[in-house]
Amino acid sequence: MGNPTAFKEIARDAAKYRNVEVRLLDYAELYTDVDEEKLNSQAARCMDCGIPFCQSNDGCPVSNLIPEWNDLVYNDRWEEALDRLHHTNNFPEFTGRVCPAPCEGSCVLGSVETPVTIKNIEYAIADRGFAEGWVVPNPPQTRTGKKVAVVGSGPSGLAAAAELNKSGHTVTVYERADRVGGLLMYGIPNMKLGKDVVDRRVNILREEGITFVTNADVGGTGDNAIPLAQLREDNDALLLCTGATNARDLPIENRQLKGIYPAMEFLRANTRSLLDSNLEDDNYISAKGKKVIVIGGGDTGTDCIGTSIRHGASNVVNFELLPEPPEGRADGNPWPQWPKIIRVDYGHEESSHKYGKDPREYCLLSKGFIGDDDGNLTGIKTVEVDWTNVDGRFQMEEVEGSEKVWEADLIMLSMGFLGPEQYAAEAAGIDVDERSNYKAAYGDFRTSVDGVFAAGDCRRGQSLVVWGIDEGRRAAAEVSKYLRD
Ligand SMILES: Cc1cc2nc3c(=O)[nH]c(=O)nc-3n(C[C@H](O)[C@H](O)[C@H](O)COP(=O)(O)OP(=O)(O)OC[C@H]3O[C@@H](n4cnc5c(N)ncnc54)[C@H](O)[C@@H]3O)c2cc1C
Ligand code: SF4
Repeated sequence: MGNPTAFKEIARDAAKYRNVEVRLLDYAELYTDVDEEKLNSQAARCMDCGIPFCQSNDGCPVSNLIPEWNDLVYNDRWEEALDRLHHTNNFPEFTGRVCPAPCEGSCVLGSVETPVTIKNIEYAIADRGFAEGWVVPNPPQTRTGKKVAVVGSGPSGLAAAAELNKSGHTVTVYERADRVGGLLMYGIPNMKLGKDVVDRRVNILREEGITFVTNADVGGTGDNAIPLAQLREDNDALLLCTGATNARDLPIENRQLKGIYPAMEFLRANTRSLLDSNLEDDNYISAKGKKVIVIGGGDTGTDCIGTSIRHGASNVVNFELLPEPPEGRADGNPWPQWPKIIRVDYGHEESSHKYGKDPREYCLLSKGFIGDDDGNLTGIKTVEVDWTNVDGRFQMEEVEGSEKVWEADLIMLSMGFLGPEQYAAEAAGIDVDERSNYKAAYGDFRTSVDGVFAAGDCRRGQSLVVWGIDEGRRAAAEVSKYLRD
C-alpha cells in the first residue's frame, strides 16, 4: 500500500461515461479516455486490508488480486499490474467494461465509506496493456497430443479454450453463430462492449493455436449440424459452453400480435446489421418513431432501452414486476453482500435525457396485449401489484381498480432465460437438473456422459461474464485432469 492515509484524504471519483447527448448519436462505447493521474490517486485509496473481501467469495468471482494491482498502478508499474491481472482473469478488457463489479460491493472501504473504483482500474490496466503492445500471443511450447472440442464461444467457452490450449491440448471451438464471442458478440451491445475489443482477443487466441469453427450447430438438425456423438468420438474430451439461450416468454392474451419480440431477437439483429452494414441493410427490428415498451429489467432490458433510443423511438417505458429497490442497503442485505439498491444504468440516464423521465414503472403485471384488425400490436393492459412478506416469502396481489392500458407499437420481452436449449443435451443423452440446466457439479463440471463437461450459463443458469470466465477456467482444469488420469 503506497499511501496509507489516501483512503481518508481522497474521495471516490469514478470515470464518467461519454456525454449523454453526444453518445446517443452513435453506437460507440460509452467510456471516456483514461485519466492516469486520477486513477493513480484512486488506486491509492485501496487500504490493502488484512482480509480483502473484494477478492473473496462475496466479491470477485475470479478472485482477482485486487490490492496487488491497485498498489502496482499506484507505483506506476503497469506492466506488472497487467501480469497480476492476467494471472486470474483471461479477459480483463471484457470485465473492466461490463462487470457489475461485485468486488466494489464487498470492498472493505465501502463498509464505512465509498468503495475503491476497482472496475475502472481493471479497465485501464487491460487497455494500457493492449495500447503498449504487452498483450501478445503466447502459444504453448509443447503439445500433449490430446484433442478437446469446446461447444459455444461465449466467455466460458473462450476462457476454457484459452486455458486448455495453454496446457498444450489441441482445442477446437464450435460456434453456432456466424461470429465468435457468444453474448459478448451478439448480446451485449456495442455501446457497452465494442466488437473490435472481442475480435482483438479472439485473434490472439487464434494465433495461440485455437481453431474456431463458426456456423456449426452441434446436436442440431439443419444443414450446419454436427452430431454431438461424432464430436465426442473425434476428441478426447468435450466441453459444453452453450449458454442459457432459452428466453422466457409471456404467454398472455394476444401474444401472436405483430410487434412483440424476445429481447435477444431485437438485440442480436441490431448488432449483426451494425457489423454487416452499419444498419444500412434494414435487416433489423427498427424502433424508429415507435412507442416502445420493454417488459423486464436487468442488463438485457437496459440494452433494449439504449438501443431503442438510438434508433429514434418516440417513447420508451420499462415495466418492472418488482417494487423499486431502496436507495441504500436494506436491513437484510448487509455488507459485504452485493448491495440490492436502485441503480441508474446508461439506458435509464439516456431515457431521462431524451424523454425527461426515468423509463422504469414498478409493480406492474402485464395482463394482455391489444391489437388492431390487421394483427398489429397497439398496446398492452396492465394491473398494479402489491408485494407482502409472508413468513419470509414475498407474495404478490393484484390491486383492485388499478388496471391501465398503455399504447405501444413495439414490445420487447426481457424476462430472463430458462437454461440452455435442450436439443444438444437430448441428442447426447445428457441429464439436466430441475431448472433444465446441464447437470454437472460446480467443481468437477462432469455431465452424466463420460468425457463430456459443462460450464457457464448452460450449467449455472443465466449469470455474468465474470462467472462465465470463472467456470471456463475451472472446467478447463478438470478436463486436463481427466485427460491425465
Ligand atoms: C443482452 C444481455 C446483456 C448482458 N449484459 C451483461 C453485462 O453487462 N455484464 C455481465 O457480466 N453479463 C451480462 N450478460 C450476461 C452474460 O452475457 C452471460 O452471463 C455470459 O455471456 C454467459 O457466458 P457463456 O459462455 O456461458 O454463454 P454465452 O455467452 O451465452 O455463449 C454461448 C454460445 O454458445 C453457442 N451455442 C449454443 N448452442 C450451441 C450449439 N448447439 N452448437 C454450437 N454453438 C452453440 C451460442 O451461439 C453462444 O454463442 C448479459 C446478457 C444478455 C443476454
Ligand atoms: S472481474 Fe468484476 S468483480 Fe472481479 S475485479 Fe473486475 S470488476 Fe471486480
